Amino acid sequence: MIIDIHTHCYPDFLAAKAISKIDGTNLKAAYDGTYHGLIQDNKRVGIDKAVVLCIANRPSHQRSVNEFAVLANSNEELIAFGSVHPFSDDYKYYVDFLCDNGIKGMKFQPFYQDFYVNDKQALKVYEYIASKGMVLFFHSGVDLLVKGEYCAPEKIREVIDCLRYPKTVIAHMGCWGYGEKMFELVVGQNVYLDTSFSFRYETKNVRKRFIKSHSADKILFGTDRPWTDAETDIKLIKELGDELSKKILGENAKKLLNL
Ligand SMILES: [Zn+2]
Repeated sequence: MIIDIHTHCYPDFLAAKAISKIDGTNLKAAYDGTYHGLIQDNKRVGIDKAVVLCIANRPSHQRSVNEFAVLANSNEELIAFGSVHPFSDDYKYYVDFLCDNGIKGMKFQPFYQDFYVNDKQALKVYEYIASKGMVLFFHSGVDLLVKGEYCAPEKIREVIDCLRYPKTVIAHMGCWGYGEKMFELVVGQNVYLDTSFSFRYETKNVRKRFIKSHSADKILFGTDRPWTDAETDIKLIKELGDELSKKILGENAKKLLNL
């Protein structure tokens, strides 16, 4: 079973606009940004399930974003995560709503939600989500389109140390874009790390070091589609050999998501 732990899609009326944000970069969208497009792409490349990460950039977006997450989640091929804004007054309402609707995790994207990942108020929100047993999923490192130190390795590490929550996933190898600091502060910690939008850009030596330095049971295949394709990462992971690639491509995610 192949599970992509990191994808994005948008309501049909928004998809074209969302996709246009990479106009002018050298990226090419893997599909049209809708969940129908994502399901098609899964079939094309042989991915069984994709986790869809939704983001409420502002508190006022929470309702529509989470209603979309519940809709996307009703497809057997998709597992959608919800989103709350850490500065929202009613985040508990939405966490409860998502939990009651069978949503298994929540994503935080501090670059777009405009907060530092180790913010004190945000930590309270993470703790509430952890108390529900949901997966906590964080962007980390740099962002392609926005500059800032929102998710620098020291801040990510502070979150890991404060929460000590095993169902934590840190995207982008734990802090891609920060080189040695990523290895010093995040790789090897007791959290899951995904390969999305990072693994393919590293040299073979760095990829090997990453796999060796972090528990192979805690590395998850993720792509960050539609911003990139899936084939490149699947091929690189398969090169690691049968045992490792089975874990990274699906078995680890299956355990994390109780599938
Ligand atoms: Zn992403």
